[in-house]
Amino acid sequence: MGTSNIIVYVPPALFSIVALAFFLLWHLKITTSWHWSAGFAQTAAGFVLSTFSIEPSFDAFASGLVFIGAAYCYGSGILAHFGAPTIRVERTLFAVAYTLALAYLVFVKESLVWQLFLTDAGFAFLFSMALCVVVRKASRPVDKALVFTSAIVVLDTLARTIFFTFFTTASDDFADFADSAYNLAVHVTTITVCMLFPFIALGAIASAAVERHRDASERDPLTGLFNRRGFEQAIERGLKSTIPWGAVVVCDIDYFKRINDNYGHAIGDKVIVALARDLRHIVGADGYVARVGGEEFVAFLPAAAPQDLYSIAQRLRHSFAERDWRGEGISDRITVSCGVSAVQSEERALDKAISRADRALYAAKAAGRNQVVVDGAYHAPIPSGETRSDHLFPSSVRA
Ligand code: GH3
Ligand code: MG
Ligand code: MG
Repeated sequence: MGTSNIIVYVPPALFSIVALAFFLLWHLKITTSWHWSAGFAQTAAGFVLSTFSIEPSFDAFASGLVFIGAAYCYGSGILAHFGAPTIRVERTLFAVAYTLALAYLVFVKESLVWQLFLTDAGFAFLFSMALCVVVRKASRPVDKALVFTSAIVVLDTLARTIFFTFFTTASDDFADFADSAYNLAVHVTTITVCMLFPFIALGAIASAAVERHRDASERDPLTGLFNRRGFEQAIERGLKSTIPWGAVVVCDIDYFKRINDNYGHAIGDKVIVALARDLRHIVGADGYVARVGGEEFVAFLPAAAPQDLYSIAQRLRHSFAERDWRGEGISDRITVSCGVSAVQSEERALDKAISRADRALYAAKAAGRNQVVVDGAYHAPIPSGETRSDHLFPSSVRA
């Protein structure tokens, strides 16, 4: 061990701790963290090999392998974090070609300078393959920071290797590695700039896990729509404390118990999922939709007048009633009833509007089902030539 001071112990110790932290996260079911744990464990092993010499050419070959293994694992970790394609074939082919070249440089050519160049350039290239795939996917600040610090690690590795290979004259003997300025530079840059990388990776995967957990607690697993809690919280986040003006619709499938009884619960689920998809589609990106009961849904369209939501609900009702279910083995027609209401100007929350939409839905059920009813508390101007019933506007429509 030539660089005989405390600095040589720092990177293996830090990377071992980081590898352990990621391993613990993996144990807590954050599945992507095992890639990171394996990557940092290999990085720690690489530093151990270069610090505690066994046999120079063995050390050179083994550390060359673990560093490229680390780059492979970091790449897998970052691709998994962003849900990107794994590009496993391309990365594996590169790693195999690299290993052959490494064996040649270490055991045939016996050149330390070119072995170090190959290991650094190989590390940078393999890691960059993954970074190029994910660079456009980073939208959260912590994800951007992860891509940025990964790019710094790549640039640091490249800058160092180019400088030492082409602008200095260094010993080409493996036995001189521990004492080299190159080895010192690796340790210094690792302890300073590159230590940012594992901590930002830790932050990124931990915050993604928290987000997934929050998402799971706010979503209905069958349809992927919000549950009631998620619906309220998403609206609160989306409207940022402004008064939630707009319109609300509540929909319920007619005689759904019969569908379950006649065709089974699994087919019933398919009908629920189909209505959820239609509702999501028809309300659009600006709207919020939740499944709030077995086959009951609520949607809120900000800044919409009840007439808009009335037309939307009518379109939904028509298309659902027209749907051909024979592919699912259902020979009956399936219909929905909807109630629509407006959020009134003095209201600061949606619950009253939802209650009124519920009342309108009951009215639709009572009036024979397969119709859309608008809550009577809303009074819109009557288009010329039309009349309206006492408490329903527009008048309920029967199919
Ligand atoms: P109505 O026209 O008055 O709405 O009559 P209905 O038969 O549809 O009555 P209701 O809306 O009360 O029916 C709800 C049924 O939905 C009862 C329950 O068995 C069923 N259900 C609740 N959750 C699920 C689910 O997740 N999957 C399936 N397949 N059925 C469910
Ligand atoms: Mg029903
Ligand atoms: Mg119901």
